[in-house]
Amino acid sequence: MNELQRKDLQYIWHPCSQMKDYESFPPIVLERGEGAYLYDIEGKSYLDAVSSWWVNLFGHSNKRINKAIANQVEKLEHAIFANFTHKPAIDLAERMARLTPQGLNKVFFADNGSSAVEVALKLSFQYHQQMGKPEKTRFVAISEAYHGETLAALSVGDIDLYNEIYKPLLLNTFKAAGPNCYRCPYGETRETCTGNCIENMEQILSAHHEEITAVIIEPMVQGAAGMKIYPGIYLKKLRQLCDTYDIHLIADEIAVGFGRTGRMFACEHADISPDIMCLSKGLTAGYMPLSLVMMTDKIYGAFYDDYVNLRAFMHSHSYTGNPMGCAIACESLNIFEDEEVIEKNKITSRLIRERVTPLLNHPNVGEFRQLGMVGALELVKDKKSKEGFDWKQRVGYQIYQIALKHGVLLRPLGNVVYFMPPYVINENDIDLMIGTAEKAICEYLGK
Ligand SMILES: *Cc1c(COP(=O)(O)O)cnc(C)c1O
Repeated sequence: MNELQRKDLQYIWHPCSQMKDYESFPPIVLERGEGAYLYDIEGKSYLDAVSSWWVNLFGHSNKRINKAIANQVEKLEHAIFANFTHKPAIDLAERMARLTPQGLNKVFFADNGSSAVEVALKLSFQYHQQMGKPEKTRFVAISEAYHGETLAALSVGDIDLYNEIYKPLLLNTFKAAGPNCYRCPYGETRETCTGNCIENMEQILSAHHEEITAVIIEPMVQGAAGMKIYPGIYLKKLRQLCDTYDIHLIADEIAVGFGRTGRMFACEHADISPDIMCLSKGLTAGYMPLSLVMMTDKIYGAFYDDYVNLRAFMHSHSYTGNPMGCAIACESLNIFEDEEVIEKNKITSRLIRERVTPLLNHPNVGEFRQLGMVGALELVKDKKSKEGFDWKQRVGYQIYQIALKHGVLLRPLGNVVYFMPPYVINENDIDLMIGTAEKAICEYLGK
């Protein structure tokens, strides 16, 4: 352990970590980043195959974005956003209203993903309070959902590792059994799927719609659940159900927005428009915390009234609408346009699939699932029964450590090794990423 690592452990508590693990595996001290790579103070490189927790789009220290920040900081770093505004926020809002699915015309700013989810939940609840349906107070999420770590966001989450201990503090939400395509209980494949697994959702909504205000869902890919990919038909059916029962559909596109799934927004795969959409992570290309909550005019309208009627949305965060974040987001959208990112990613995505294919012969690789720039290998103890490894074995964590030794930052989720690289990843990087994943899997599990 070097001096910086010793000091780090003396003072710092790292996220999502058992700090005792750091005794034998101290934090890597980074000095800089460039493109798809991070470099530590000894000059060792790490290919960032997880886009630094799914946020980075165009590589670290991207020249165009660096310049946009430099320009903005010379003008205005931050200012109060109540009764004040600025061009970066206006430009961003206008462009997002045009880019996002039909009907999402109004933007509320927050400063990270979880707070965007809080805003979305509060908006939906307050909307129904003010529209004469005060009994609509409950939310619905699907199994293994992940929507962030603050208390309301955890309430609509369904991953025990994150929320079990807090259950006494959480809202009373409905959890519907969601898609589970690798182990489909209906015996279908993603190709043959007709969305039968909507049935539990349908039962819950039809029985309890009078007390339900919104359904929240990660469209197409359940990230934290292990990059569980499901067909758009589920979303199509869900949209119809929500319409039938006057329930808001909240699309949490925090992880999947901005091209991650091969379309600008994941909802496009199902050709649906949610009532509310949450965006963060890739919004600032991985540079700064910022989030947006997009909503329909109808929702906005339910809050628009004379002040004394007390229907306003009295919600704020100190860094709401931060000009630097907005300027970065605008430049990121420019890059999407100028560099035909979505088109180019199709080639990258195909390359990843090709390179992964031989790995499917490994006895512990259950499936490779992929949608756009998200790919995931699910490791299993037994391919036939699809039985997973015991969580106590920490298969992902072991593979993570081996891959790091070989210069690739993979950070699996449980038994799922996933690839979510920055869009600037090139062919050599892909070889390194998948070659190292293979090496790590074989080193730990055998050939
Ligand atoms: C990361 C994530 C969040 C939470 O965002 P934070 O900025 O980490 O608070 C919420 N929903 C989804 C789907 C996410 O992937």
